[in-house]
Amino acid sequence: MIAKVIIDVSLDRDFDYLVPPELENVIRVGMAVVFRFGNSRRTGYVLALAESSSYPAEKLKALDSICTDRAHIPENLITLGKWMAEYYCCSQEQAIRTLLPAAVRSGKVRAKSRRIYYICDQEKARAFIEKNETVASAVQRAAVLKALQAGPLALEELRLTPDFSRSSLSTLMRNELVAVKEEIVRREPWGEGEVLPSAPLEPTEDQKKALLMVDEIIRPDSEKRVILLHGVTNSGKTEVYLQAIAKVIARGRSAIVLVPEISLTPQTVRRFRARFGDQLSVLHSRLSDGERFDEWNRINAGEVGIVVGARSALFAPLQNLGLIIVDEEHESTYKQSEAPRYMARDVAVMRGQLEKAGVILGSATPSAESMYNARNGKFILCTMSSQVANRPAPRMEVVDMRLLPAPEPGKSNIFSPALLEAVRQRVDCGEQCILFLNRRGYARVMHCDQCGFDACCPACSRSNHPIHYTYSRSRCTLSCHLCGTVIPAYEKCPDCGSPEIRYSGTGTEKLEAMARGVFSFARIARMDSDNMKSNEDYEDVLERFRRGEIDILIGTQMIAKGLHFPNVTLVGIINADQGLSMPDFRAPERTFQLITQVAGRAGRGDYPGEVILQTWQPDNDAIISAVNFDFEGFSEYDLEFRELLGFPPFSRLIAVHFRGEDEASVRRYGEEIVKELQPYVLEGTSISAPLPAPIERIKGKYRYVCTIKGTRLKVLRQALRILALHRTPPKGVEMYVDVDAQSIM
Ligand code: ADP
Ligand code: ZN
Ligand code: ZN
Repeated sequence: MIAKVIIDVSLDRDFDYLVPPELENVIRVGMAVVFRFGNSRRTGYVLALAESSSYPAEKLKALDSICTDRAHIPENLITLGKWMAEYYCCSQEQAIRTLLPAAVRSGKVRAKSRRIYYICDQEKARAFIEKNETVASAVQRAAVLKALQAGPLALEELRLTPDFSRSSLSTLMRNELVAVKEEIVRREPWGEGEVLPSAPLEPTEDQKKALLMVDEIIRPDSEKRVILLHGVTNSGKTEVYLQAIAKVIARGRSAIVLVPEISLTPQTVRRFRARFGDQLSVLHSRLSDGERFDEWNRINAGEVGIVVGARSALFAPLQNLGLIIVDEEHESTYKQSEAPRYMARDVAVMRGQLEKAGVILGSATPSAESMYNARNGKFILCTMSSQVANRPAPRMEVVDMRLLPAPEPGKSNIFSPALLEAVRQRVDCGEQCILFLNRRGYARVMHCDQCGFDACCPACSRSNHPIHYTYSRSRCTLSCHLCGTVIPAYEKCPDCGSPEIRYSGTGTEKLEAMARGVFSFARIARMDSDNMKSNEDYEDVLERFRRGEIDILIGTQMIAKGLHFPNVTLVGIINADQGLSMPDFRAPERTFQLITQVAGRAGRGDYPGEVILQTWQPDNDAIISAVNFDFEGFSEYDLEFRELLGFPPFSRLIAVHFRGEDEASVRRYGEEIVKELQPYVLEGTSISAPLPAPIERIKGKYRYVCTIKGTRLKVLRQALRILALHRTPPKGVEMYVDVDAQSIM
C-alpha cells in the first residue's frame, strides 16, 4: 500500500511513501503521519491511499508512524481541498492550510489542563470532618475537606476558602485523604454574556413553505440540494434557519451557518445561541489560538452539532453534516482575498454535494449568480415577500442633484435643502439619523460638477449601464478595464465644456467635518474602516449610538448591514451613485444591494422611517429599482445586461494579477504569460492584454491585470495553474490568479 502525503512546505506536489504492514489497517486519508524527508523527520497529511506508485518500489521509503497528537482531517474535507486547489489554481498545501486552522495544523498548541484536588474516599473524609471540626489543631484540614465535598477544586479556588493553608492541604494529601489529577479545561471563548433561551415560533405560511422545501433538500437521496431563500428583510429568514437546523439535529446530523462577518452580526449570533445553547460553537476571529484549538477539537470530536462563523467556518470538521446555511449570500466578503481565493458560497454548494447535505443560500438581495442558478433550475427558489410583523417600508424621497442651484464658490451642496431640513427636525425631536456615504478612495472617476457627466467607455456601456473609465493622473489617460481602450484624459467636459472636472468625490471624513459645521447642535460620530481600528472601537460607537448619546451616525457600508436601531427614523444617502462609478460590471448590483440595505436601517421601531436619497442619476435603473423596492425588476434587467455583454454568470471570469517595482518587467511577464496561454483559448473565450489595474500602484509596486472571460475555461485554468505554481517569475515580479474574481481593483 502506498500513501500519498503532503508536507507543510510550499511544494505543490505529494510524495509517495510505503505504508508499513502494521499501519495498513489503521491508516486513513486525512491522518497526520511522520516520515523521513531528505535528512529530516517531517509531519504531513495523507492525501490519498493507492495500490501502486509510479516510482520503483525499492526507491520508496516507509512511513514511520501515525501522529497521535495532531488532529486528523476528515476525508470529505480532503476531497474538498483537492477540488479547491484545482479550481482556484492554488497549491494543495495552500488548500490544506485553509482546511485546518494554524493552531491545529502546527501541532504546537496543546489542550489546556489544570490540576484539580479531589477527595479520595468520601467516607473517610466525612469521618475526619466529624471528628476534627472543633479540634483546634485540625480545623484547617477539616475546612479544606469540607470545601472539596461539593466537588473537585483547583488550587486558586481552594485558596478562597477561609482558613485555607498550603500545609494543611499537603498533610491531607500525605494522609491519602485528598489527591490531585490533571483535567482538560475548555478555554471560554469570547464572552457571550447571558442569553435567554428561545423557543421556536409558530411558522408563518411563507415559513411553512420554506421548511417543506428544507425537508426536501436534506433527504439523503434528494436530487436538488440547494435552496435560494429570497426573503425581504424581516420576512422571517432567520427563523427558517433556526427551525431548519432543528430538523437536521433531530435527525442526528450537524449544521454550519456562515455569516458575512461575526462582529457585524452580533444580533444574529445571539439568536442562534438563544435557541441552541451549548450545542453551538461560534468561531470568531477574536478567538485565541488556544480557544480555536479547543473549538476545533470539540467539533471534530462530535461534541457540538452546530457551528456559526465567517467564511472559514465552512471547513469545520463536523461529522455527518446535514445542512449548510449561507446568510446574506450576496456578500462579497465570502470571497477570500488571498490564496486560495475561494468563494465560500460556491464552496458551500460543493461541500453540500460531497456530504449529501442541504444548502440554504439566504438574502434579501440575492446575487446575480444565484438568481441565474435558480432560473435555470440548479437551485430551488423560495420567495418570502411579506414581513412577519407588517411594518411599512420606509418612505423614499429622491433628490435630483442636477436640479439644485450651483453652489457659491468655495461652498458645496453636498447636503440638499431637503436633507438639511429633515436632519434638523429629527434631531430636534430626539430621533436619530444615519448619513451614508460609501466613498472609496481609489475610484478615480472623471466627473463634471456642472452637468453631472461621467467619463464612460462607449464600447462597454449600455444606456443606463455606464462602465466608467479609470483616470490615471500620472499618464493623463482614461482607460476601460473591460475592453482595454485607452484615451487621453479630457481637459474640459466633453458635454457642456465646463473646465470644472473632478476626479474623485467627497469621502466620509470630509462629510463629517461639513456635518459638524451645518449641524453644530447635534452629536456626531463617524464610522468607517479608517477610524475603526478594532472591534472595540466599533462596538463602542454602536453602544453609544444605541444609548442615544449620538444623534447622527456617519459611515460607509460598515453601517449599512444588519444593525437594528429602533430610534433611527431618517437615513440620508449622500451620493447614491457613488458605487456606480466603479469600473466594474457588478457596480449596479452592489449599488442596488447597498441602497436596499441602508434604507432598511430606517424605521425599525415604532415610528415610520424615511430615506432621502441624493443622486445625479435619478434615471439609472439600479437606483430606480432600489427606490421602488423592486428586486425582481432589477434582477431581470441586470441579468439581461450581463447576458448581452457576456459577463458572469453567463461566463466565468478569471483575473491574473502581476505585481512588482519595475513596471516594464511586470508588463513583460504579463505578456509572456498571456502568450503561453493562447493555445488554450477556445472559441468563445477572450483574454485581454495585461493592463494597469484600477489601483495602479500600491506601496511602490506596479499592478497589472489580465482578464479572461469565457464559458469553457477548464483547460485554460489547468494551464494557468501550472504556470502560476511552477514557473518562476523574473526577480521582483509576482503573479497570482483570481478565479471568479469579484473585483479587479
Ligand atoms: P429576517 O431574517 O428575514 O430579517 P427574522 O427571522 O429576523 O427575519 O424575523 C423578523 C422578526 O420577526 C424577528 O423579530 C422575529 O423574531 C419575528 N418572527 C419571525 N418569524 C416569526 C413567526 N413565525 N412568528 C412570530 N414572529 C416571528
Ligand atoms: Zn470598454
Ligand atoms: Zn459637463
